[in-house]
Amino acid sequence: MNKENNKKIPVGILGATGMVGQKFIKLLENHPWFEIVALGASSRSAGKMYGEVVNWQVDGAIPQIIAKMKVQSCEPKYPCQIVFSGLDSSVAGEIENAFANAGHLVISNSKNHRMGTSIPLLIPEVNADHIELIKTQSFSNGGAIVTNPNCSVVGLATALKPLDDIFSVKAVDVVTLQALSGAGYPGVPSMDILNNVIPYIHDEEDKVETEPQKILGCFNDGKVDYHPMKVSAQCTRVPVIDGHLECVTLTLGQKTSKDKILDAWKEFSGEPQKLKLPSAPNNPIVYFEDPRYPQPRRHSNLERGMAVSTGRLREVGDGRWKFIVLSHNTIRGAAGGAILNAEILIKKGYLRDE
Ligand code: NAP
Repeated sequence: MNKENNKKIPVGILGATGMVGQKFIKLLENHPWFEIVALGASSRSAGKMYGEVVNWQVDGAIPQIIAKMKVQSCEPKYPCQIVFSGLDSSVAGEIENAFANAGHLVISNSKNHRMGTSIPLLIPEVNADHIELIKTQSFSNGGAIVTNPNCSVVGLATALKPLDDIFSVKAVDVVTLQALSGAGYPGVPSMDILNNVIPYIHDEEDKVETEPQKILGCFNDGKVDYHPMKVSAQCTRVPVIDGHLECVTLTLGQKTSKDKILDAWKEFSGEPQKLKLPSAPNNPIVYFEDPRYPQPRRHSNLERGMAVSTGRLREVGDGRWKFIVLSHNTIRGAAGGAILNAEILIKKGYLRDE
């Protein structure tokens, strides 16, 4: 919300017709600060009404005003400073650069810019101090790019953060069970995934094995010093619609107890909670004592899809622990996380007065 005139802040969505783009539209429908003024997609969709071209996959109807909006091409002339991007990674790099160079604040879900040295790879509860990297960016006209992590990394890095702060994380071994919506639409053919598990997701293990070190790294003197922990991942696709579940084995540097780990998760909160940002969950991490939980169908939508849930914590010897973590891949792991990023950037003064 613009403090001067109480008007909502105009925003655009690149890749508005995709799985993540649709989630942006749903989550922004009644957002107290933001109003959608531009929708961008490929030349297949540009020039047509959104309701005509989108294959709407989100629960509930397309907001009427959005259904009647004309989809634009992804050229940087949108009437808004903030642009959310849910673009396919084959085109996101170049288009997001063009928008940033035209002065837009681009909040991206794509992999393309995540590991750039001047780009915040942001989970606001975990590494809000990395936002200052923006000051080292050199886009023209005051533009900037901020990214979300890979949708499996969000839950993992959030669960690791309070444990690393207190007990020091040395190594992580993770097996992911990733939902179908993570592959976009139409995604994996039904003949491949029904009654099946696919033990491979192209490019995914590399992201899970490298992004956590940047996210949990220390911001020092205008740069991020990566965390030295080792992460090893095996990623699988399972016949679940939403919610990535992960089986984690963790090595900690210090001896501790189950109660102390549970306390660390329970007491964890960050700047979004302090600042009472509209999309912030009250409890970023929720632990389930019931060993049957968390489950994707039952718990992905906890706190409007913005909470990360954990369960089945147990010690397995030699400073090693096992647990389960679950997060909603298109909300906390994509559109909801990006909206929270925009909210914290605004609170920290990164929106220019115009
Ligand atoms: P998707 O359903 O395939 O949607 C891709 C979007 O990109 C569509 O709006 C499409 O527009 C647009 N697009 C494709 N080619 C284009 C071009 N040449 N020019 C302009 N726009 C173009 O994919 P998604 O699942 O929403 O994922 C979007 C991005 O978010 C990806 O980079 C993905 O890796 C990342 N991500 C996804 C998830 C998830 O859980 N799904 C989570 C985190 C991050 P048309 O409809 O006109 O083709």
